[in-house]
Amino acid sequence: SGFCSSNGIFYSKREPVKLPADPSLTFPRFILERPDFDPSAIAYIDSKSGQTLSYGELKAQIQAAASGLLAFGVKPGDVVLVLCPNSIAFAVILLAIMSMGAIVTTTNPLNHAIEIAKQAADSNALFVASLPSLLDKVSGLKLPLILLQDSDKKLLGTQKLGFPSCMTLSELLCSRTENALGHHGRQDDTAALLYSSGTTGVSKGVILTHRNFIAQVLLLQYSNEGLPWNSRIYMCLIPMFHVYGMAFFGSGILAKGATVVLQQKFDFVETLEAIQKYGVTHMPAVPPIIIAFAKSPVVEKFNLSSLVSVGSGAAPLGREVMDSFYSRFPMIKIPQGYGLTETTAVGSHTVTEEEATHFGSVGLLAANTELKIVDVDSGKPLPPCEKGEIWFRGPTIMKGYFGRPGETASTIDKEGWLHTGDLGYVDAEGFLYIVDRLKELIKYKGLQVAPAELEAVLLSHPGIVDAAVIPYADNEAGQIPMAFVVRGPQSVLREVDVIDFVAKQVASYKKVRKVAFVGDIPKSASGKILRRELVSAAMSKL
Ligand code: AMP
Repeated sequence: SGFCSSNGIFYSKREPVKLPADPSLTFPRFILERPDFDPSAIAYIDSKSGQTLSYGELKAQIQAAASGLLAFGVKPGDVVLVLCPNSIAFAVILLAIMSMGAIVTTTNPLNHAIEIAKQAADSNALFVASLPSLLDKVSGLKLPLILLQDSDKKLLGTQKLGFPSCMTLSELLCSRTENALGHHGRQDDTAALLYSSGTTGVSKGVILTHRNFIAQVLLLQYSNEGLPWNSRIYMCLIPMFHVYGMAFFGSGILAKGATVVLQQKFDFVETLEAIQKYGVTHMPAVPPIIIAFAKSPVVEKFNLSSLVSVGSGAAPLGREVMDSFYSRFPMIKIPQGYGLTETTAVGSHTVTEEEATHFGSVGLLAANTELKIVDVDSGKPLPPCEKGEIWFRGPTIMKGYFGRPGETASTIDKEGWLHTGDLGYVDAEGFLYIVDRLKELIKYKGLQVAPAELEAVLLSHPGIVDAAVIPYADNEAGQIPMAFVVRGPQSVLREVDVIDFVAKQVASYKKVRKVAFVGDIPKSASGKILRRELVSAAMSKL
C-alpha cells in the first residue's frame, strides 16, 4: 500500500503537514497569534474552584508574567524549575517562561526534596516556581522563588525558609514593561527540559525545542468527526509536568481553540463530577483510569452523556479493558496514541473510528514521521509483520539529553533515528503494535520509574550487597517495581524492611512493591544486569 520503501523505512500514510518557516516563531506565539484566535473563548477552567480564564486573558497574563520574569532577573536561556499540580497558574507560568526565551523544567509534586534537588542541579535551574504548600520541597535549593499562589505566609515563610528572593505570580502580572511575547526566542531554542530515563540509567533532561512542540500540535491530526473545536471541552487530568499533559492537553490543545478543564490530580469521583458539571467532551487518559471507567459502579451515578472520546496513551491498553469499556459506553470512542518524552509524545495514533477498531494497535504513524523496525541482533531493518526495535525520525525528535553527549549519541544515531527501546511491529496495513519494552524503564500507572535510581537506593543499605529492579506485571498499575536483593552474610532483612527503606527515600509512585531474595544477580561479562533473566524468573514464580 505504498507505506514501506525498499530501504526498510516506513513512511506515514497521513497527509503531510507544512511546518511554519518563521525562525522566530515560539510555541506560545504559535498558540496565541494564530489567525482564528478568539479572545472571548474560554481557554481554561479550574475544575475545583470553577475559575475560568478566557483566551484574551490568558494572552494578557502570559505577556505580563513574561515581562515580570524579565524584571525579576530571569534571562533568556535560564532554566526555571516548576513544581506545581495542574492549575491555571501552572499553565500561565509555563507559557510565560517559554515566551521570554527561558526554559522550563518540570517535576512530579510527589517527588521528595532530594529527588527534586537532583533534577534542579542536573538541569542547572536558576529559579523555582511553586506553591506555598510545596515550599518545604524546594527551600533547600536556595533559588529565587516565584510563588504561584498568594499566601499570607509569604513573607514570613520565605524568610524563614531562606529563599534569596521571592515574587508572587500576582506581582509578576502587574508588571507591564514590555511585550515579551514578541521579542525573544527562536523556533530552534530549547523550550523545556523534561526528565526521562530513556533506554537505560537515571533520569535525564530531554531537550525539547519550540519547534518540537509546534510540530507536535501540527503532526497530530485529530478526528474531525463530531464536534467542532470551539465546542470541545477537554479534561486535562494527565499531569502537565509530563510531556503527555504538557504538550497535548495543557497547552497544545489551545492551538486549536478548545476549552481545557484542569484537574489537580486524578480523583475518580471529582473527575466524574467535573465531567457532568462542565460538559466535558474529550478526556485523554491512561489505562488505569480507563479500567476505573470500565469497572467501577460509581460511574452509574453520573450523567456522562457529554463525553464522546476517552483517549488512551502512555502505557499498553488491554483488549479486555477496551471490550468492557465499550460494552458500558458504546457511544464513547477510545482513540489511542503512542509516543515518548523524547519524541514530544508523538509516534503513532488513531484518528478515525475505523482506525480505532484495530484492537491492540497504537494506530498509524504520525504525519511527517518516519519509522524503522530494526532487528535487535543484526541491526537490519525488517519488513511488515516482523518484530524489532522501533526507531523514529521526524520533527518532534528531541535535540538530545541535556549535558550528556554520550547518552545522546547512543539514543539518536548519525542519521537522526531515535532508538526507542520499545519492541513492536507494523502490520500489512501500516498499523503499529507495541509488543514489549526492551529498555529498563518501568511504568507505574503511566509514570516513569527508573530501575537504576532504585538500585542506587538499595545499594546504599548496609545489609544489601547487590540489587536489581525489574518491572512486574500488575493488572491495575500496568507494572510495579520489583527488587531482587542479595543480602550481606549477617543480614536478616525481610521484604517489608526493604520496601520501607526505599519508600522513605523516593516518591510513593516509585516505591518497590515486591522483593525476592537471591544468592546473586545474573550479569553479563561486562557487568550489565541481565534483566530479561530476572523478569523470566519473576514470571515463572507466578
Ligand atoms: P514517557 O517518556 O514517560 O512518555 O514513556 C515512553 C514509553 O512509554 C514508551 O517508550 C513506551 O514504552 C511506553 N508507552 C507510551 N505509550 C504507550 C502505548 N500507547 N502503549 C504501550 N506503551 C506505551
